[in-house]
Amino acid sequence: YHILAIETSCDETSVAVVKNGTEVLSNVVSSQIDTHRRFGGVVPEIASRKHVESITVILEEALAEAGVGPDRIDAVAVTQGPGLVGALLVGVVAAKSLALALDVPLIGTHHIAGHIYANRLIGEIRYPALALVVSGGHTELVLLEAEGRFRIVGRTRDDAVGEAYDKVARALSLPYPGGPHVDRMAQEAEDAIELPRAWLEPDSYDFSFSGLKSAVLAEINRANMKGEPIRAHALARGFQESVIDVVTTKAMRAAREFGASQLLLCGGVAANKGIRARLTELCAEAALPLLVPPLKLCTDNAAMIAAAADLKWRCGQFDTLDLKAEAQLSLEQWSVGAATMD
Ligand code: ATP
Ligand code: MG
Ligand code: FE
Repeated sequence: YHILAIETSCDETSVAVVKNGTEVLSNVVSSQIDTHRRFGGVVPEIASRKHVESITVILEEALAEAGVGPDRIDAVAVTQGPGLVGALLVGVVAAKSLALALDVPLIGTHHIAGHIYANRLIGEIRYPALALVVSGGHTELVLLEAEGRFRIVGRTRDDAVGEAYDKVARALSLPYPGGPHVDRMAQEAEDAIELPRAWLEPDSYDFSFSGLKSAVLAEINRANMKGEPIRAHALARGFQESVIDVVTTKAMRAAREFGASQLLLCGGVAANKGIRARLTELCAEAALPLLVPPLKLCTDNAAMIAAAADLKWRCGQFDTLDLKAEAQLSLEQWSVGAATMD
């Protein structure tokens, strides 16, 4: 069977065709980064308009690349939320039209479930699994007791990691999105400026990054006032070390406490070389199997949406054409089979 998936939650228009749940036949991603860069961030109105302009072209490209005609599509999946509502709407309307025209089921999918299940495209998931979700809008520890069952055991109380990366990058006058630039500078740095770590309460799996971000800004201001040069590399390194320490330590502790059989890293910030390296090291020491998707499956893409939609496909849980785009869709409520299992 073939699932065609559409992702338009933020600034990437993506369409993928995935065979039997895990075989990616095509995964076309059109990024709007060049358009948004001069504004220093994603402009929602422009994002929606760009999705409208490119969705048809990307759809045709994805089918052509997969070598699969529209008549061989068995279900249409789409990111229903969370994300920018205007951007989501473009994907949802396209998916509904396609499902109606092809007379196949429609599957509304959760964006973060997609980031997590990107891992299923590269290997078997062993339950209970613990997912460390680090992205532009989310920082969460999600426990998967069984397939498609999500329980958030920790989340950020303020900024998401990616957001903190982008804000720090902006303060260092780096182009948007700044995450990859800060990552590169941290690797190149010869030394680090020591910055605080927000551990919060001893038993908490929550995160906080606004204090760390403020510490970076304060250091830049201090240097500016004194007329000293800004030690951008050392700041990037100090920032990255604080982030890595906190997210990997909490992930390992949660994996132990909840008896996880596997750790899953995911989200756009999972592209970070420092986080990948440290987690690989810690998991090897703890003999805990780790899955980390390749870069292309970490940042927003539609193949991951097909992977999450496959959970619903396999239990015949479909949506109607009333499906709505939801800017704030809850992951726990999206849990597959939740309504029938409890
Ligand atoms: P969400 O998935 O929470 O809705 P999003 O889809 O906007 O948010 P993603 O596309 O998953 O986020 O990730 C984008 C984020 O990843 C940006 O903040 C970007 O700076 C960050 N990022 C990408 N590569 C790296 C890297 N190497 N190091 C740190 N951050 C990175
Ligand atoms: Mg993006
Ligand atoms: Fe994302």
